[in-house]
Amino acid sequence: MTEFDLDDPVNVSTTAGRIFKIIRDHGPLYGKDIVRRTGLAKSTVSAYVDRLMSVGLLREEIPDGMKRRKLKVAESAGYVVGVALGQSHLSVALCDLEAEIIDSVGGPVDLVREGPEKVLNRVVSYARELEQRAGLGPSALFGIGFGLPSPVDYSHGVPVNPPVMPGWDRFPVASFLAQEFTCPVFVDNDVNVMALAERDKGAASDLAYRKGSFLLVKAGTGIGAGIVINGEIYRGAKGAAGDIGHIGIDGDTTLCRCGNAGCLEAVAGGRALAVRARAAAREGRSPYLAEALSREEALDAETLARGATMGAAILVLDEVFSHKNVGMLMRKISD
Ligand SMILES: [Zn+2]
Repeated sequence: MTEFDLDDPVNVSTTAGRIFKIIRDHGPLYGKDIVRRTGLAKSTVSAYVDRLMSVGLLREEIPDGMKRRKLKVAESAGYVVGVALGQSHLSVALCDLEAEIIDSVGGPVDLVREGPEKVLNRVVSYARELEQRAGLGPSALFGIGFGLPSPVDYSHGVPVNPPVMPGWDRFPVASFLAQEFTCPVFVDNDVNVMALAERDKGAASDLAYRKGSFLLVKAGTGIGAGIVINGEIYRGAKGAAGDIGHIGIDGDTTLCRCGNAGCLEAVAGGRALAVRARAAAREGRSPYLAEALSREEALDAETLARGATMGAAILVLDEVFSHKNVGMLMRKISD
């Protein structure tokens, strides 16, 4: 493979890939900014930039009132598909090379009842629908990125021991999709993917430039963490480094849907909060929640969050975070 292989246009292990990524994440940039950020010689940067332009991956832009050119990604030179699979929802998005979402499609999914083939066939048909709506040719897709709510063996693109996804353990997700599409497919844990997005485009993008470290915690139906150390995602030996939702809390006997007792998720996950909210409503400890219940409103995260900002449902969250071991566990993880 050459450094300009169009099958692998964003391979960051190459100099060309590094320059492309810096321009994608921080562009438009002047040549001198790229020299500063890469530490490469001006002549080297300029040779690589010329070649990236000649294969159509970069373009020039002259800012208003300025004379010198800035470089930016030729955002429509290719496209990528992003797949976000949750316990109850599937979203598939078509993005340009600057990771801007152009179009998306999705629908409900039930990972306990639907097996991997059924779900992945839906991913394929959603992606085809997006290609068709955008009028893309067969070689327009540069890659597919897939976030799964499970520990993932990243190098093989397979989920490993997903706690509540029957049939998915070691299912070859990446190769299943690679048979359908002629582009590379990357599969990772969903919270790792969120952490990468925050590193490259979001709240941690300045930190990432300095190769900083941060922890992203996702608290939804499940609870997971994405760990970034010195600018790189840390997956751990079995791809489960951030899989904190099923760590046991000492002494807690709440039954978890994974079959074990006392998991963090069973105590502080979305379902657990809903159960606590219903109890608080019925036992008259929260007029706000009792009223929501009487209106047959779902006592879900949204209702709880709204109540918490009004100070009305905070007791449920207090209850969880004052649980002696949940607080300790969260502190241990963030240390
Ligand atoms: Zn569990």
